[in-house]
Amino acid sequence: PVLRVALMGLGGYATRVADAMRSCTKAKLVGAISGTPAKLTEWQSKYGIPARNCYNYDNFSAIKNNPDIDAVYITTPNSLHHSQVLQAAAAGKHVICEKPMALNAKEGAEMVAACKKAGVKLLVGYRMHFEPKTLEVIRMRNNGDFGKVLFFQGLCGFRIGDPTQWRLNKQLAGGGSLMDIGIYAINGARYMVGEEPAWVTAQETKTDPVKFKEGVDETIQFQLGFPSGVVASCLSSYSMNNLDRFFLNGDKGFAEMQPSTGYGPIKGRTHKGELTQPHATHQTIQMEEMAGIILEGKQPIVPVDGEEGLKDLKIIDAIYEAVKTGKKVALKL
Ligand code: NAD
Repeated sequence: PVLRVALMGLGGYATRVADAMRSCTKAKLVGAISGTPAKLTEWQSKYGIPARNCYNYDNFSAIKNNPDIDAVYITTPNSLHHSQVLQAAAAGKHVICEKPMALNAKEGAEMVAACKKAGVKLLVGYRMHFEPKTLEVIRMRNNGDFGKVLFFQGLCGFRIGDPTQWRLNKQLAGGGSLMDIGIYAINGARYMVGEEPAWVTAQETKTDPVKFKEGVDETIQFQLGFPSGVVASCLSSYSMNNLDRFFLNGDKGFAEMQPSTGYGPIKGRTHKGELTQPHATHQTIQMEEMAGIILEGKQPIVPVDGEEGLKDLKIIDAIYEAVKTGKKVALKL
């Protein structure tokens, strides 16, 4: 069986996913949802999408009567994810939603509940969960190669340009660097350490309050404490380039990856040597694997379901609270 996918929000990332899906054998791009008629026409010819599988945001609910589409992949700005996932679920379609799954844990929990009620799967676009070098480090950790894991460092950021883009608009982005890029350090800390954090502390630095308005964070440092005693020290920033590094340290060895979450190739080494797993386009492997999860009930090594997305949202809520109060915030995941 092939997972027949419609993309919603035909921007930069949707294009990347559409191009990557050309190489998929188990997933196929068959539909599109956009508010811009010209984009739908362009996508029909560029990706061979039939006109009958194209929708705008006003007539989208009619997708429920379309038997040729199995899943909707949402690649719109962050604040739209919540209502669009609810709409897709109400239309009886499986949903793949980009990260961050929503703006906060309250929204996230509603999305998980709505998809459960509708009997559809909800997956989050965590492409790193399928990346071969990342999975090798996780395998080594589970195998005890690093000994007792003691520390993780995750540095994630880039220097953001155009001040008018949605990523710097609180209404559309829900925040700043943490929502967009810091989430890779949050999520990475969890899959690299292999535990759920029990507390968080966080500090914010803002050097440019004109570009980074109220509610849009430029740089946040945060620390996660895990029940075993592991501590993660993380940095999320919109004002530094070359910030894409993971470091895991245990009493018998280490792993370091740089770049660690970019589109790749990912590079890394452990105390045993270079990581040599071959690079493949992340979004191609992701969609192949997600087709298996949705259609065949396959279990991924690192979860990519709505509950997984919700955990990261709970941590995001806690980080913002820790920034505001200056206090250590307890987590229940
Ligand atoms: P983008 O600006 O390139 O595309 C967003 C699209 O949404 C545009 O086509 C825009 O027209 C459309 N849109 C629909 N309704 C809109 C509205 N009300 N306001 C503004 N735009 C609207 O952004 P992007 O980089 O493609 O990011 C989209 C989503 O994908 C974000 O949630 C982002 O976090 C996520 N993303 C994930 C990855 C990844 O590696 N997993 C990478 C990039 C982006």
